[in-house]
Formats: sequence, structure tokens, C-alpha cells
Amino acid sequence: MSLPYEIPSFLKNRPRTRIVCTIGPATSTPAKVEQLVRQGMSVARLNLSHGSRSDHESLVSAVRQTSDKLGVSIGILADLPGPKYRVGVMAQSGLVLHKNAQFTLYAEPRKGTADGVNVWPIGLHSDVRRNAKILLDEGKLELRVVEVSGQNIVCRVTRGGTLQDNKAVTAPGNTSTLDYFTPETETALKFALEADVDFIGLSYIRDTNDLERVKARVKQAGRSCLLVSKIEIKQAVDNLDSILDASDAVMVARGDLGVELPIEMVPGVQKRIIRRANERGKPVITATQMLESMIESSTPTRAEATDVHNAVRDGTDAIMLSGETSVGRHPVRVVQYMARIARRAEKFLDYAAIAGRRLDYSSGRTYSVGDAIAHSAVVTGQALGAKVILAFTESGTTPSRVASFRPRLPVISLSRNPEVGRRLSLRWGVVPLIVPQFETVQDMFYEGSELAIQTGYAKQGELAIVVVGMPIGIGGSTNLLRVITLPEPVSDVHKSKHS
Ligand code: PEP
Repeated sequence: MSLPYEIPSFLKNRPRTRIVCTIGPATSTPAKVEQLVRQGMSVARLNLSHGSRSDHESLVSAVRQTSDKLGVSIGILADLPGPKYRVGVMAQSGLVLHKNAQFTLYAEPRKGTADGVNVWPIGLHSDVRRNAKILLDEGKLELRVVEVSGQNIVCRVTRGGTLQDNKAVTAPGNTSTLDYFTPETETALKFALEADVDFIGLSYIRDTNDLERVKARVKQAGRSCLLVSKIEIKQAVDNLDSILDASDAVMVARGDLGVELPIEMVPGVQKRIIRRANERGKPVITATQMLESMIESSTPTRAEATDVHNAVRDGTDAIMLSGETSVGRHPVRVVQYMARIARRAEKFLDYAAIAGRRLDYSSGRTYSVGDAIAHSAVVTGQALGAKVILAFTESGTTPSRVASFRPRLPVISLSRNPEVGRRLSLRWGVVPLIVPQFETVQDMFYEGSELAIQTGYAKQGELAIVVVGMPIGIGGSTNLLRVITLPEPVSDVHKSKHS
């Protein structure tokens, strides 16, 4: 028996660098989500700081419906607000703040007017003093504190502009002292766990204590979603190594990073985060303003194209779109551009250098039997001119390990568990397929061979690399590497079982 195996061409042709799209009002229907997937989206992101619970529910449902319709694993990343301050909603869309005007940041809920606006969660008054600088909307507007009056902060506008709902409020150098679990974060986490999203984004994480507390909640709820630490404040940069070790993935959240650190520090910090994540084999997402001008414009700027290209060549696993796809005017076209730029950049990727750094870092430290097998699959496949790596997986560990050594060959992961497929959606270059449980390793070899031929990755006489964990059904035990000259002959046991 072999199944009819098929991989749609849009999956085969998408870049190996994963594309994460923030979905929102511009992309809330299943039809729009489908267009994003066809252009190259692997992971849909919800920013739980924006919109209502019912908005989030319908976005999750649009993604899941699309995933079912196309038979493609699409991960969902939900970002928690964390101890990050934001303005509330304006009385009218786009509140104009004039230079030198007095403007108060209120603790109590109220709509934004020329007099002031609500800031949530409550607590900013404890973090700032007279004369402190406060930035709104990632530095587009700037205030100076005149006086802290109870929980309210009276300010003077030092850089005017237009303020929109929910924009970030930052007091550079004054890290939030709030408990990680603000009321808004509690509500968002409850939603994320109930919706069983695949990845939870931890905004404003400061150290591993914040991370471990969220991890404990996920475990308590019986979920296994992966935690993505957003590196966006100085404290997180200072604690980068320990945060990386404890996280499933990280995000270079350049929006906040660019106001929390001097802007000229951001490119170097981005490269450092990517490099250290690569060394540990943890996925890293490069985020924010990647193709920002396309919120309005129908083409990216040259500088934006260069930014995406460089992030890919630096070794990022994923590149992210925010406002471009959530509220932008060209949400589908922007993904098309991002995919084009990433595919081109991958032609220049220094695969050996990334794999080498992973090897150097892990040798004598974390390098395991599983890593040795995955690494050998990459090296052997390349040296023999094989056409594809097939990674059978129970927990997702085997294909993740293979991806971390940056194979030039396509990697197909085969898992019986749709949840595992979705959680692999952030892994560089992995095409997750959902297949039945195979009882014997010989079944795996045979079906893998059929799959490689039927999907067009390889022809008769060519080589496929297979990696498996034995015994079957035990997660995390990558320990077997096989090189198959295609096709694998059907075995007598196989024949009698399926006749
Ligand atoms: C960022 O700051 O770059 C980021 C991704 O976070 P958010 O979208 O929550 O502002």
C-alpha cells in the first residue's frame, strides 16, 4: 500500500525561510488567508493587544478553515501583551497632538482626546519621574513628563503627530516593573490556551523568570504550545543567552527594540540574536518594518528589499509582516514580494557557515545522538547528491534537528499528528506532511520512497535520505539514518499486510 502523496506547487516553491504574517482587518476572511498561504505564509500571527475576543476567534477559525481546505499545516502565533504599556482607543480615529500642548496619560479608562488618553495596564506612573521622556507609537510622537499626579502623568508634547488606537507607550531606560501577568495578559493567555494556538509570543519578556511562569501556565493547562520570546527591551538583550536556552524560539522585535535601545544598536543586536539562535538550533523570527512602506505603497523600497535579503543571509529562520498584512492596502502582494526577495537571498546563503556555527557551539555541550544523525543526514545528503531528506517524527524533534543544520536539500517531515505539523511551520525549510502511523521501519522506508517519487522530489535511481527515531512512537529519539536508492522494493511483509 502506498497513499497518493501530493505536495501542492505553492508549498514546494515557497522560500525555505518561513514567512509569518500578522492577520487583522485586512486579512480576516478565509479567502484572504488562503491567498496569503498560496503566496508563502507559513505562520499566521495574532497580536492579542489589538481587537476583541470575537475578532481573535474569527481569525483563528479563518486560519484553521484554510488549513483544512488546503490540507496544509499553518501555525498560529498569538502574542500576549505582557507588561507593555499602550494607549487605549481614541474618541475619533487619528488624534492629532500638537507640539508644546499639555497631554495627560490617564490610568482610568477614557477615550483619547486633545486633553489626554488612557494608558493600559496601570503602572506607568511608578516607572517614570518628572522630565522623563515618553515615546508613543515607537517614537513617532514624544512627550516629556511635567508631573506625576497620583496614577496620572501630566506631560508636554515635544514631538507632535497623529496618535492611533492601542499604540505602544515606552519610557526608554525605565523598564516596566509590572508583574508579567497584567490583567490583559491573563485574558490573552486564557484565550491562547483555549484556542490551542501553536506558538505564544511573549512580549516584553525581561528574564527567564517571566518565561518560566508562562511555561508553567501552559503546562498546567495541559497544552504544549511553543514559547517565542520577543527580544524587545535592553534587559532581554542583556539576558539573551539564558532566555534563548529556555525558549522554543525568539523574535527580534525591532519595533520596540528601536526605541528601547539607540537606533544604531538595532542592526548589531539583530545579527547577534540571529547568530546565537542559530548556534542553539532555535528558530528566530526577524520582525517589524520589513516591508513597512507597502502598508500604503504597491512596491517596497530598495532599502526594505535589502533588509529582508540581509536578514535571510544572516540566517534568520523566519521573517515577519505586521501592519503590512494586518491593516495594509496590499496584504497579498506584500507576501509575494517578501517570498520573491527571500527566495533570491537563499541562493547566496552560506549553508556551511550556519551549520558550522551550530556544530561548533553544540560540540561537547549539547550535541546528542539525535544531532549527530540529523547533522549526518545533511552532510551525507549533500555529499551523495541525494534529492530529499525525509524525517519521520513523533514530536517534531527529528526534522527540527535536521533544519538546524541548514540542509540544502528539501526536508519533508512525516508525522501522524497535525499538531506536530503545525508546530513545525516555523522551522526553516521543513515541509510538514501528515501521514498515518507506520508500524515498522520497513513501512517507513517503503512509504518514504513512494512519497519522494510521487511528489516529484526524486526519480527512480536517485537517492533519498531517511531519518527516523527508534523505537517507533517515542518522541525525541532520532537515531537512525538510511540512504535509499529509489525505489525501495516492497517487502514480503508489506505485501502480505496490504494484499
Ligand atoms: C515589535 O515591537 O517589533 C513587535 C513585534 O511587537 P508588537 O507588534 O507587539 O509591537
